[in-house]
Amino acid sequence: MLYDVVSRSNFQRVAVPSGIGYCVDSPPTNALVTSELAAELRRALERFSREAGYSAARPVGIFFKPGTVGHHKVGRAADIYSVGGFGLDIWKKRWADAMARAAPSRDLQARHGVEREERRRNLGWRLYKALQLHGRWAQPYGYPIQLFGPWTRSEGPWSFISDALLHAHRDHIHVAK
Ligand SMILES: [Zn+2]
Repeated sequence: MLYDVVSRSNFQRVAVPSGIGYCVDSPPTNALVTSELAAELRRALERFSREAGYSAARPVGIFFKPGTVGHHKVGRAADIYSVGGFGLDIWKKRWADAMARAAPSRDLQARHGVEREERRRNLGWRLYKALQLHGRWAQPYGYPIQLFGPWTRSEGPWSFISDALLHAHRDHIHVAK
């Protein structure tokens, strides 16, 4: 989004494939990307879904929507809007509510318990962390790593994300490769 790529007319794009533990619910045209990005997403999404307890018998749904600017123009970016049937904005709200519930507690152990439980159950947060920990995303010279989403300020990798850019990614996760 920050990084504007010159449009090229001659490039091959593929749909992000479903995997073993996850299933792409969105139309294939919602995420037409380079084969490199498709492979990277597949690797990270397999790992996310396996670690979150999903399998071929019970895959988790992933929903993409098309993007138009920057890396999207050349198929080097994808936007994930929902996981497990809920939008990233819903997962983020759930996360914020749980943390607000835990914060006033003077009982450190109880607070950590609530946080631990939310880290386990919140698929939006888990997806963001899996993409952050296991994905190898683009970092154009002079620009931050191209992973943005509702948790970028609190979890990184780019904690200095502006209010405007954070707001633009309040309901989806953007990755580019
Ligand atoms: Zn995007």
